[in-house]
Amino acid sequence: MPEGPSIVILREEVAGFTGQRIERAEGTAGLDKARLVGQTVRSFRSWGKQFLIELDEVSLRIHLLLFGSYRINERKDTVPRLSLGFANGGLNFYGCSVQFIEGSLDEAYDWSADVMSDAWDSRATLKKLRARPRLLACDALLDQTLFSGSGNIIKNEVLFRTRIHPLSLIGELPAAKLRELTREVRTYSFEFLQWKREGTLKAHWLAHTRTTCPRCGIPFVRAKSLGRSKRRSFYCERCQKRYGDSDEIAVEAPVAEA
Ligand SMILES: [Zn+2]
Repeated sequence: MPEGPSIVILREEVAGFTGQRIERAEGTAGLDKARLVGQTVRSFRSWGKQFLIELDEVSLRIHLLLFGSYRINERKDTVPRLSLGFANGGLNFYGCSVQFIEGSLDEAYDWSADVMSDAWDSRATLKKLRARPRLLACDALLDQTLFSGSGNIIKNEVLFRTRIHPLSLIGELPAAKLRELTREVRTYSFEFLQWKREGTLKAHWLAHTRTTCPRCGIPFVRAKSLGRSKRRSFYCERCQKRYGDSDEIAVEAPVAEA
């Protein structure tokens, strides 16, 4: 699933269609595509993993889900969910969910929760985290109301960097550690963005899909499913400290290479 930084890259790639009028709208998405024709793109925005196209009278919310993809000025062999044609090219989305959003995007979204946004507010996130002391660290980093845009890669990398065990309880983290965790999600997300642009993201992974802890030289725990979010996790039992005593256990099973 594309995480927040990848959607920021999409936003940058389509910037040339800003101010352009939609001349053609088609695809298998079950919404009134005729409504889109004639509208002008006011802006491309993103909120976490959601890609937003702000038009004159309505906005489009596109979520690439697990296996969604897009093509700019070219098409795949399959029928797109949504295809938008402009005088200067076209935009095609596949395997995604497409919805209308009525009204102002500023009112529809909590921009302070978006880790890539200028409006990101770590204090607001800390307040939300403190209100949920029984939340597991691995679930907190996938909760889009706390860290919009954070996904499984960001989760594994940030927990490793901050030396926090994924089954730690948020309420048991010392205040400074909780601040460090919150800060690191944003810091790592911008490094992710830079490395993704350079094509070196995977080379920079310290924990995600790795077999050995680079700090301790011992094997990582490679859990197939962890926490309520049940996503795969890679972590070190020696250098990632487990805060608190959650009764969660890791489902340890061989995980496939990414
Ligand atoms: Zn280690």
